[in-house]
Amino acid sequence: MVQHEKVYDFVKEGYFNVNIFFKGVIVIRGKIKTETGLLIGSLAEEIEIGKVDQFVVRDPITRKPYVPGSSLKGRMRCLLEYKYEKVSSFEVHSCADPSCEICRIFGSKENIIYGPTRVGIFDAILTEESRKELESKGLGNYVEMKVENYINRVTGRAEAPRVFERVPAGVFFNLTINYNVFDVKISKTDKEPEKGSEKYEKYVEIVNSLDKINEVLSMRVDVEYLKHVFEGLLIIEDVGIGSSVSRGYGRVKFIIEEIEVRPLSYYQSKGNAIRINLEKIIGPPVEEKFGYKGWRPIDILRNFDKIKQEIINALSSE
Ligand SMILES: [Zn+2]
Repeated sequence: MVQHEKVYDFVKEGYFNVNIFFKGVIVIRGKIKTETGLLIGSLAEEIEIGKVDQFVVRDPITRKPYVPGSSLKGRMRCLLEYKYEKVSSFEVHSCADPSCEICRIFGSKENIIYGPTRVGIFDAILTEESRKELESKGLGNYVEMKVENYINRVTGRAEAPRVFERVPAGVFFNLTINYNVFDVKISKTDKEPEKGSEKYEKYVEIVNSLDKINEVLSMRVDVEYLKHVFEGLLIIEDVGIGSSVSRGYGRVKFIIEEIEVRPLSYYQSKGNAIRINLEKIIGPPVEEKFGYKGWRPIDILRNFDKIKQEIINALSSE
């Protein structure tokens, strides 16, 4: 198999063209439900020493807590790096292999031929129903205060209690994940290295593997890799997000309400956004508080092959 760093070098020298065709966006909407108190901390407010040791991150205008998209994306990437055995140093994993699920979905620092980062996660805003509920319970600040004691091992006394803000359990946030799909094609240009040279041999090696390389770079593989996003959500459900997960904080549940495909034709104002009929594929959704309805990441993963085919059909619609 051809090394992709080598392909990049040949592209840079003008022996091959890289054409990146934008095929559309898959929009995943749903809810994040806190199952235990959630603390995604804000450094900005830690100046106010004496009262609260750690604050939750809040929207500076509405003062409502939210779940930063960057926290979710970072947590997801990190957990998937472990799952796919890509952790070998203290650094964030980064490589140039287009078949690498981590770098293709989340981005790479290397010189790559497979185009931009595929996944984006918006900041998850508190739902209106949860906002009203918290306000009606007198939590105008939208958080609970959790006092934690440190036990002095010699005296056995509780010392220096610390106070944390947490979003209470049972609160919902609106989740939106975007997944961009591309079809990348590498093709020969008129330029060729001098015949008989060492470079020419390497060039021929790449030319002979072009079909294989283009298969790896195809939109089918992009859509296939969407499953890793749901795997990421599935692991987050078990290991939590934010601070103090080892002390019981940050357990969340994801409810997937819809998967909508916006093919290129949609952005050309010709075609429509297509909603994948999850009910037909998976069965009836699970009902949650406030009448929210949706499916769990595990339901999506167990039916992923069918969902993938529907997404590919939708992306190919003119
Ligand atoms: Zn990689």
